[in-house]
Amino acid sequence: MPRSLHILARAAAYAWASPYTVFGITIGLLLGGRFQRVDGVIEIHGRGIAAGLSRMLVPAMAMTLGHVVLGRDLTCLATSRKHERVHVRQYERWGIAFVPAYIAFWLVLSLRGRDGYRDNPFEIEAYAVDDLTTTKEPITNSR
Ligand SMILES: [Zn+2]
Repeated sequence: MPRSLHILARAAAYAWASPYTVFGITIGLLLGGRFQRVDGVIEIHGRGIAAGLSRMLVPAMAMTLGHVVLGRDLTCLATSRKHERVHVRQYERWGIAFVPAYIAFWLVLSLRGRDGYRDNPFEIEAYAVDDLTTTKEPITNSR
């Protein structure tokens, strides 16, 4: 892909996911998180974020909102980075439709007696690239 086209595609990916990115930044600011930028993604951690993630339906180490990853602390952010980057790519593909699609899969799976989190295709894709086996991340942006 020519460089100019690549830049245009990246800009479109950021714009497409931007509503969730803005939401993630807002949460990070409201909870007094500490910000860092890693590979084009904003990572935010702190005590308030840790408290929020521990109270989620699926207690999470980290959670992705667009190009923002909220993590309990730096260790959680590093441990979950590969997994959460898959979710960033999913936001880039699905844009504003990502969260509704994630929740729809969750509901359909749950209604069929399956695990809305573990059996969710978005999670299966993310878990395929990491070594995490248990307590990870979140659910819906909610996950
Ligand atoms: Zn995940």
